[in-house]
Amino acid sequence: MVSMTKFIVVAGGVMSGVGKGVTTASIARILREYGYTVTAIKIDPYINYDAGTLRPTEHGEVWVTDDGGEIDQDLGNYERFLNVDIPKKNNITTGQVYKTIIDKERKGKYLGETVQFIPHVPNEIKRRLNEAGKNHDIAIVEIGGTIGDYENIPYLFAMKSMERELGKDNIAYVLITYLPIPSHIEEMKTKPTQQAIRLLGENGIFPDFIICRAKKVLDSVRKKKIETYANIPSTHVISEPDIETVYSIPLDLEKEQFGLKILKELNLKPKKAPNWNKWKKLVTRIEKPKNSVKIAIVGKYIDIGDYNLADSYVSINQSLMHAGSALNVGVNIHWLDAKKFENNNNEINNLKNYKGIIIPGGFGSSGVEGKIKAINFARLNNIPYLGLCYGLQLAVVEYARNVCNMKNANTAEINEKTKFPVIDILPAQKKLMEKSAYGGTMRLGAYAAVLKKNSKVLKLYQETARLREDAEKIRKLKKDKSQAFRLGILDKSKNIVLERHRHRYEVNPKFIDKLEQKGLVFSGYHLRKDHTKLMEFVELPKHSYFIATQSHPEFKSRLGNAAPLFYGFVRACSK
Ligand code: GLN
Repeated sequence: MVSMTKFIVVAGGVMSGVGKGVTTASIARILREYGYTVTAIKIDPYINYDAGTLRPTEHGEVWVTDDGGEIDQDLGNYERFLNVDIPKKNNITTGQVYKTIIDKERKGKYLGETVQFIPHVPNEIKRRLNEAGKNHDIAIVEIGGTIGDYENIPYLFAMKSMERELGKDNIAYVLITYLPIPSHIEEMKTKPTQQAIRLLGENGIFPDFIICRAKKVLDSVRKKKIETYANIPSTHVISEPDIETVYSIPLDLEKEQFGLKILKELNLKPKKAPNWNKWKKLVTRIEKPKNSVKIAIVGKYIDIGDYNLADSYVSINQSLMHAGSALNVGVNIHWLDAKKFENNNNEINNLKNYKGIIIPGGFGSSGVEGKIKAINFARLNNIPYLGLCYGLQLAVVEYARNVCNMKNANTAEINEKTKFPVIDILPAQKKLMEKSAYGGTMRLGAYAAVLKKNSKVLKLYQETARLREDAEKIRKLKKDKSQAFRLGILDKSKNIVLERHRHRYEVNPKFIDKLEQKGLVFSGYHLRKDHTKLMEFVELPKHSYFIATQSHPEFKSRLGNAAPLFYGFVRACSK
C-alpha cells in the first residue's frame, strides 16, 4: 500500500519578494537528502486560470512544464533544486478551483445542493493538493502572496481542514518572514514578524517554524524575543540571511539542523544520512569560479527596466549559472537592447567585447532587425551564438537573407507578405488563428526531437548524459496515451531528446532544401503524426559555436545537470 502523503505548508508574512519560492525548493531538497520522496506544489491565489496570459515584465517569466502547463516561475525553482520534472497539476490557482466548481454545477453534478464557499471551495483545493501530492512521502505547499491578503483565506482554511483530517503529525507549517533593519537605528526589528504570526493565528494556524529572512544572521537575543512574544521555541526560529547564490540556502538551513527538526515535527526519522559534498562543490564554483566570461543577451528591454530584467529571463540566467558551475566558469551577463543596433551602425561593433551572444525567446516586431544584425555579427566574427526559440527563427531569417540571397526573407509573424516566409505558421494553425482561438495555436510543453548523426548538437546531448536520461523518459511517455502526441513518429533512431516549447511559428518546410544547400545544418526535427516535419535545431559546423533551437532548453537545466546547449555555449565562450 502506498503510505499517506504528509504535507508541509509554507506561507509568507510581512512582505513578498523575500525568496519564498527558493526557500520552499530548499526545504524540498533537504528532505530528499534524508531519503524521502518529495514534491512541491505552488498555490497562486489569482483568478487567472494559469500564467499563460500574464505579462512577463510584471510577473516574471512564464514557466513551461513537460505536459504543457504555463506556470508561475516558482515551479522552475522546484525543478532546478530537485532535478525532477514537475507536472502542471502542481500549480493551483483560484481560477482553476472556481472553474472546476462552476463547470460541475452547470453539469448538475451537485444534485440540487447549494454550492457555497464552505465546503465546496476548500474541498476542491484539498482534492487538488492530494492529487498533486500522491505517490510522494512529503508534499510541500507554497501559498503565494502574503498572510493577510484576502485571497489567501480559502487556502488557509483548506489547510486547517486538512490538518483536522490528517492529524497534526502529518502536517507542518512554516512561516517565512522578513526582519527589517531600519538604517537610522541599525537594529533588526522583530515586530512585523510577531504580527505576521498573529495574523496566521487568526486562521487557526500556528507555525511550527519561523524562517527569518534578513540582511544579517539572526542573533540569539532576537530568537528569544520571538520565542517569548509568539510562543515559538527559539530552536524553531531559523535564520536565513542574504546570500550570494540561492543554492546555498539548503546548506544554510542545515547549519541549524532544519531537516532533522522538521522531520521530527512530522514524526519521521531520517532514512539516510545527507551527503552535500557534490552540492557544496557546485555552490563554491558559483561563488568563486576559477575563470569568468562576459556574454551578451540581446533582447527587447525597453519597457522592463533593469530591476525586472533578471526576473523575466530567470531560467536563462540560471542555465548559464548551472553550465558555469559545471565548468568552473563565472558567467557575467550583459543585457543589450536590440533596438540600439537598429539606429546606429557603429553600435554593433561593441559586440566584439563579448565572448558569446544569446538571443532569447520573444514575440512581436520590436527590436527584431537589431537581433538579426547581432546574429549576423556573431556568425561572421565566429563569436559563439546560442539562439533560443525566436533566436532560432531569426537565425534562419538572417541566413536566408545574407547567404541564400532571399531578399527581405522574414518570419510571417513580422511580415506576412514577404516572398520568402522562411518562418511561417502551419496551415492547421492558420485556421485556428482566423477564429482567434489563440490558445490552441501555441505549441506547448515537451516534444521529442530526432537528432542528426555526427551533429554538434547530438554530441552535446551525449556528453552531458541527457540523451540517456531522455531515453528513460521516452519509455515512460510511450505508456501515457494522452501525451503520446509529444513523441510524434519516432523512426528507429536512438538519438532522441525531449525539450520544452512555447511558440507558434515554425521553419517553413518549403525553404529547408535551399537553406541546407547553402550550408545551414538542421540537426534535429520532430515528426508529427500527420508527417509534418518540424525543425528543432540548426547549427553551422565550421563555426566556433553557432547553435539554435526552436525549444526552450533553459526549462530543463538544473544545478548539477546543466542543459547541453548551455554547457556547450559556455565552454565555447571560455575557450
Ligand atoms: N514568436 C515566436 C513564435 O511564436 C517565438 C516564440 C518564442 O520565442 N518563445 O513562434
